[in-house]
Amino acid sequence: MLLKSILNRIQFHHGFVFGSIRLVEKAARLLLEIEIRPRKGSRPLCSVCGNPGPGYDTLKVRRFEFVPLWGIPVFFLYAMRRVDCPRCGIKVERVPWAEGKNHLTTTYA
Ligand SMILES: [Zn+2]
Repeated sequence: MLLKSILNRIQFHHGFVFGSIRLVEKAARLLLEIEIRPRKGSRPLCSVCGNPGPGYDTLKVRRFEFVPLWGIPVFFLYAMRRVDCPRCGIKVERVPWAEGKNHLTTTYA
């Protein structure tokens, strides 16, 4: 899909790949939902110290609001992993498109 090529150009995240892209209608509004998956073999980064560590588990899928396209709200859908960090303990991974508990992507904010 062309949209995926555009996303890879403007919003490429090392360690992550874009999955399926869906145009959905919710409450008579169109939304674009873009799945993100970890790249195969990539290790999650600890959100505290930034070092990679072994994966601990995977949380429920979260939605991150991205920049609207042609006025259509865009959401990234991603299931955050937790890292078993040797230094900090079990922490949520660091993802490049959002900070902390913020639900807006950093590009949009
Ligand atoms: Zn750490």
